[in-house]
This record gives sequence, structure tokens and C-alpha cells, in this order.
Amino acid sequence: MAVAVSIPVASNQADILTDSHGRIIHDLRVSITDRCNYKCIYCRTGNDGAQFPELGIEEYLRLIRLFVSLGITKVRLTGGEPLLRRGLLDLIRELSTLRTLSGEKLDLALTTNGHLLEGLAQPLKDAGLARITVSMDAVEEIVFERITRVPGSYNAVLRGIRATKQADLGPVKINCVLLRGFNDNQIEAFAHFARSEKVIVRFIEFMPLEEDRLWSPEIVVGQREILDRIRRALPIIELPRHDTSETARRYGFADGEGEFGIIAPVTNAFCGACSRIRLTSDGKIRTCLFSQIDHDLYGRMRAGATDAELQQYIVHTVQAKEARHHIGEPEFLKPSRSMVHIGG
Ligand code: SAM
Repeated sequence: MAVAVSIPVASNQADILTDSHGRIIHDLRVSITDRCNYKCIYCRTGNDGAQFPELGIEEYLRLIRLFVSLGITKVRLTGGEPLLRRGLLDLIRELSTLRTLSGEKLDLALTTNGHLLEGLAQPLKDAGLARITVSMDAVEEIVFERITRVPGSYNAVLRGIRATKQADLGPVKINCVLLRGFNDNQIEAFAHFARSEKVIVRFIEFMPLEEDRLWSPEIVVGQREILDRIRRALPIIELPRHDTSETARRYGFADGEGEFGIIAPVTNAFCGACSRIRLTSDGKIRTCLFSQIDHDLYGRMRAGATDAELQQYIVHTVQAKEARHHIGEPEFLKPSRSMVHIGG
């Protein structure tokens, strides 16, 4: 499966991918399918919906190698639901052999709904995956399954989380998107869950990226409210960021047991520190979750572009990355794709 890549630009610096606002891009999210076995109410319609073409595993590999040759140091596989994708373990095995420009191992992570993790956690670890984030929007079964719309999903995900810890794929992060009126009654319970299950829970503000029209400012549960509520339940302390482009504000509990974080793209946007770019399952570059256009990298590859030509295209596309999103502003336009077709 190995594909040779020649570096087009006369540089081996890690800042080849710099946008016109001076942000260095080192974090690539790759969707490897837009199929999903859940129909979370805040993400998908209740129907099967549109499906975009998927690339072959070797094609993702060739494109990811090109990004890494340009300074990407972190790759997160996502979807849709990435565990549904045939060939996932082969892809991870190949990616785990890649080295960054400075010769280090690639930081290789995956985001999943966790439904199939029980049987896959150990094979993922053995294939070379470093970290897993599991999405889980409630700790109460009835609330959870009202959101996923899949009976039995709650216990499957719990078993998946435990299998992940057992496979030593930790620390396991849990992503929880909060929606007022749906699961905002879970906040305090999640704080206790983080401590009892020894996982890092990250609350995420709901963004207007859904297939249905559900989003409104009122449905967003903001950072301040989340913090106030947890603080009333348990004493907390703020923890330092791991790095400046980290999206989550980190908190610990005062007795040293457990950690949680808040990702606040709506009430405390972090676009100025954004280090991300996305590749969709059909091979389009998205420079921002809220982009109005896709950049057709795969179309160029299929038309026979050389590695050097594709690298130049990636460099130019990154330069045009949007300065910021406009959520909540009058000029906000819904992005041209919903989250499930971008890759979260
Ligand atoms: N299926 C995988 C999963 O469930 O984690 C990966 C794809 S999913 C789109 C990635 C993440 O995006 C999940 O944590 C999900 O909760 C989050 N997400 C989806 N729609 C969102 C929205 N409108 N606002 C904020 N987060 C969202």
C-alpha cells in the first residue's frame, strides 16, 4: 500500500501549511464515511438521508500522506461513524507508521459513537491507534436513547467505553453536546460520571450544523451556565491548556479526582487559534466547519494530478482558510454541508 510522496516546496519546516491569517495548520480531521448507525436528533434527520461517495482506503492513505508531508502532525479519523468503515484497521496500521516532518510518530486519534467499540477497542489499539473520543450525550439510558433513536445503544456505548479503557487506549474522552430541553439535565450527573468512570468529559456547545432546522441561540447551553452548575455540585479548579490551539478549557475537581472540559465555539469562539482542516469522506477539503464551498482534492487526484500538484493545491487551499465563523450574527449562512457529511 506504500505510496511515494515527493515534497514540492523547498522546505522541511512545520509551517508550510499557514493560512493568510498567520495560523499554522497541523491538525487534520478525516471522515472515512458519512454513513452512521445513529440518528442523533441534533445531527441527523430521522431518515437515511443523502450519502456521499467514499474513497478507497489506499486513496485516503495517499492524501493523508500528502498532508503529513506538509506539516500535519495530528490526524483524527471520524465520520459519519468511522467504525462502520471496512478497511479501518488497515488504514490505522499504515497511518501508525507515518512520521511527522520532525520525525515523530503521528498523533493518531479517532472519534466514534462507541456502538461497535466493545469488539474493536483492542484491535484498534493493536493496529496503532493512540487515542479515542467517544460521543455520549446522556448518562441516563432513557435520555440517551431519545437522542440516538437506537434501542440498546446506551449499554453498547457503556461497554465500548469500558473496553477502550481495558485496551489501554486512554485517557478516554467523552464528548457531550448539550441541548436545552433535551439533555441539559445531565450536566451534574456527567461530572460524577467523569469521576466514577475515570474519563474526561467534554461538554460541547451545540452549533448550527444539523440536517434538520433545530438550532437557535436559546437551545445552546453555554459555557458559563455549564460551569456554574458544576461548580454548585462540586468544587472545581481550572487546569492549564495543553497547547494554545486546544479547543477545550480544562477543569479538574478540587479533590484531584477527575477532569472535564468545555468546548465553547458559540459563546467563546476560538477561531483565532484554529489549527484544523478537514477532509470529507468524498475527498473534499473543508477549511472551516462553516465553509460555503468544498475544495475538490480528490477530483484532482482522480484526474491524474501528481503528488507535487496535489501538495501545491493543499497549500493554496489552506491559505484561503476563513478568518472565523459567524454563528449568531445576522450574516450567518448555514454551511453547505451538515456535520455528518463533513466529519466532526
Ligand atoms: N459518529 C462519530 C461520533 O458520534 O462521535 C463521529 C462523527 S460525529 C459528527 C462527531 C462529533 O460531532 C460528535 O461528538 C457529535 O456529538 C458532534 N456534533 C454533531 N453535530 C454537532 C453540532 N451541531 N454541534 C456540535 N457538535 C456536534
